[in-house]
Amino acid sequence: MTGIVTEPVGESGRYRVGVDVGGTKIEAVLVDGGTAIRASHRVPARRGGDNVVEDVVGLVRTVAGESVDRLAGVGIGTPGQVDSTAGTVSHVVNLDIDTLALGPEVSARLGGVPVRVENDVNAAALGAAQLVPGAKGTGAVVMVNFGTGLAAGIIVDGVLQHGFSGAAGEIGHIPLDPNRFDCPCGQRGCLETVCSGASVQRLWPVDGPAMPDLIAQAHAGRADAVRVLGIVSHAMGDALQIVAQTVDPRVIIIGGGMAKTGEPLIEVMSEELYRRERECPFLQGLHVADRLRLAPMDQPIGALGAALVI
Ligand SMILES: [Zn+2]
Repeated sequence: MTGIVTEPVGESGRYRVGVDVGGTKIEAVLVDGGTAIRASHRVPARRGGDNVVEDVVGLVRTVAGESVDRLAGVGIGTPGQVDSTAGTVSHVVNLDIDTLALGPEVSARLGGVPVRVENDVNAAALGAAQLVPGAKGTGAVVMVNFGTGLAAGIIVDGVLQHGFSGAAGEIGHIPLDPNRFDCPCGQRGCLETVCSGASVQRLWPVDGPAMPDLIAQAHAGRADAVRVLGIVSHAMGDALQIVAQTVDPRVIIIGGGMAKTGEPLIEVMSEELYRRERECPFLQGLHVADRLRLAPMDQPIGALGAALVI
């Protein structure tokens, strides 16, 4: 769905725009007073803060059309270290951004419309929770994002949980893995060094996505694939247990690029959890595998969720 709004926005100005800033593309959606997407558009990402601001502003104008002056707000999900209060983002390595006052700059170029900047995983969690069956409503829902890195977005009663310093859900840098690979964060054995998309690609280097091939080769009985999949699935099991036993969410959404693996990924995770359950009646009672759901990878969950943070 791409293009200009056909339905005129009401005087209430209740329409919002959500923008998902990614390493390869920037995507925007126009969302009505509920959660329905009325228009969407995407462009390839360009590096550098000025280009990112220009592209975000351009996308907002494109999807909002003539409603751009009456928007209730713009939400932006971005990788990097986000200060939602100041609207700034730092250390977006993929886009050559050191520090950028993304919120204030976009707001200034759109006539002062309210802009809120949010961590991309958190925004995607909000969007996915709208679309995954059984994830909407009261209680806790978590999306574990197996993307380039590993992090979780925690939602309680429909509200994102940031914690005291904004680090709630940063499970990727919990050092648990017995293989103890070095992590760029300075620690060793972080979960992210084993079960993020980037690390699986490193452990199982193939052309194209590594996880589907790794699973297929392991199922075919290739010994090295069985060994690597064992390492990866062990770390995935740790990540899921951390989420289940700290937040105890009703639904655990599996998101990020690795979710494109589809059901075989859920099967690998479930098998790991069942293996642990056989040795632990406590874990057996939690039914963690039953709570796993795939994020809808054909939907713009990052942009939709960004629209909902405003
Ligand atoms: Zn780390």
